[in-house]
Amino acid sequence: MEKKQFQAESQRLLELMINSIYTNQEIFLRELISNASDAIDKLAYQALTDQSVGLSRSDFAITLKTDEKYRLLTVSDNGIGMTQEELEENLGTIAKSGSLAFKKALDKDADVDIIGQFGVGFYAAFMVAEAVTVVSKKFGASQAFMWQSSGADGYTITPCERDCAGTDVILKLKADTEDENYSRYLKSYELRSLVKKYSDYIRYPIKMDVERQKLKEQPEGEEKKDDAKPEYETVVETETFNSMVPLWQRKKKDIQPEEYEQFYRDKFFDFEAPLSTIHFSVEGAVTFQAMLFIPSRAPYDFYTKDFKKGLKLYSSGVLIMDNCEDLLPEHFRFVRGVVDSQDLSLNISREMLQHDRQLKVIANNLEKKIKAELVRMLKDEREKYEKFFAAFGRQIKYGIVSDYGTHKDFLQELLLFWSSKENKLVTLQEYVDAMGEDQKYIYYAAGESRSRLSQLPQTELVQEKGYDILFFTEDVDEFIPQTLLKVGEKELRNIASEDLGLQTEEEKKEAEAACEEAKAVLDFVKETLGDKVREVRVSKTLRSHPVCLVPEAGMSFEMEKYMKRVNPDFAYDAGRILELNTAHPVFQVLKEAMTGDKEKAEKYARLLYAQALLMADLPLENPTEYTDLVCGLMV
Ligand code: ADP
Repeated sequence: MEKKQFQAESQRLLELMINSIYTNQEIFLRELISNASDAIDKLAYQALTDQSVGLSRSDFAITLKTDEKYRLLTVSDNGIGMTQEELEENLGTIAKSGSLAFKKALDKDADVDIIGQFGVGFYAAFMVAEAVTVVSKKFGASQAFMWQSSGADGYTITPCERDCAGTDVILKLKADTEDENYSRYLKSYELRSLVKKYSDYIRYPIKMDVERQKLKEQPEGEEKKDDAKPEYETVVETETFNSMVPLWQRKKKDIQPEEYEQFYRDKFFDFEAPLSTIHFSVEGAVTFQAMLFIPSRAPYDFYTKDFKKGLKLYSSGVLIMDNCEDLLPEHFRFVRGVVDSQDLSLNISREMLQHDRQLKVIANNLEKKIKAELVRMLKDEREKYEKFFAAFGRQIKYGIVSDYGTHKDFLQELLLFWSSKENKLVTLQEYVDAMGEDQKYIYYAAGESRSRLSQLPQTELVQEKGYDILFFTEDVDEFIPQTLLKVGEKELRNIASEDLGLQTEEEKKEAEAACEEAKAVLDFVKETLGDKVREVRVSKTLRSHPVCLVPEAGMSFEMEKYMKRVNPDFAYDAGRILELNTAHPVFQVLKEAMTGDKEKAEKYARLLYAQALLMADLPLENPTEYTDLVCGLMV
């Protein structure tokens, strides 16, 4: 019979499993049971609308069976089953959720110890089995198929018999070694305890025929003799190992932190524990239970279109939608979890759900709860919150600026920005609270990086006054002042803007006089530079630097750069205004050159403009010309 080869990555995963000395290999059972449960979910879901399934909820079960003589352990389900193609595709390749996450981790050469931390799926069977047989019949098909493999050398698929739809996964357990006792997986008490430990909340009964010693009953009519020894007999009883109550339906106080963690890892394929778990129930107009998780890190595709937000939606413990998007607002799209409501109809369609009033009530409720948890974390567990913000802060910021700022009041407290004075992240309220009476505005500077920003010439004056400057380094940051405008009474001001509100009346007068005096120089520079700049004016903010470039009101340079990146065809310039520091010696030199050597003065003007561009982190229009100018000064 022809042996097929595993796909390369599957092969690698498989070899890892076969040679695994992983101590927690017992998780293989959890993986198989979870697959069985998923398969039943699928058929149970179909049964809601398809009469021909002919099974009701109570008919579904997962069955364990052992054969001590041949060292076989079988996990069976009466779920949806697999066709020949599906056997080939699902078991011969790694393309599926859990194993894919594992593959990603493998690619990063991660530690093998992550095996137990999240679902590695079906292949986990090879940690304990030397050969695996899968017999499966797809619901609605007439032919069953058998998939067989004894590991890395490939697998076969052949037609076979099976009564009804479903799947049997049959493990031929490895021989015991000095270190490993595989035989324990043949014992019902061992299996029972593994089910309790890992699969207790599976919503279908996990059954096994268990042998028990039972006291023999007295045959009727016979008299009981006082000295008779009690007689025992072996009876076989079908026992259900799991309690079947979904984790979220259990009482919070009865759930161990590890159980939440395990559930999260199993269901959402993350190998890091969640940062926070929110488990609550609501009774009232709409009754529901929710168990939500805030992940520790953003999935690799989080900030792309591929990422699908949503929660698993259940109706009284039955999954009705795997990814219900309408339950989460965009700004909290990172949240994972389940919602279970007995008030939702089982066969509600997707379109109907969108307009469902009850669903909206639930969604509103969840949004508030999530925010409350984040605020709590911000207050009580700052370090944790910062970790959260590093992963998902950008999403919160998008939330503020999107939908015309509709959510700004709701989300504002969740923002953190880098305080250049405190050298740490602060909230806007913390910034405001630390402001002195005399400080008019909340100052911020936008640029590529913190180190770049601290070199910005305009920071000097603000910092000299002892005021804090928030450093904005993400693209989206700059849109925030435009949306928020104010925090309480305080307006946000870019330090690159013209009026920073720093001058006293007296200083203002002095400045005006200086402007008058400087007018000839300003005009000269403007004339020399022509259209390159909109205006040349006296700076109110410069201290030790001779020049700087500021944008015309409305858009900043950072935003200009951002726009150009996002949509080059429609981008426009922010409008450059050159500011000169009249108190700087360079200004005098320029002034003198204007009367002495006009050509030189023009060179100076162009040089100063180039320097201003450099400091603003904008590209030079003509780097060669600039270098020539500098070199011209040297010789
Ligand atoms: P995962 O469960 O993470 O998707 P697995 O390697 O465990 O990955 O399983 C791969 C696929 O094989 C599953 O997604 C499912 O389609 C199929 N499968 C596994 N076990 C069963 C089963 N008992 N019944 C039906 N399909 C199954």
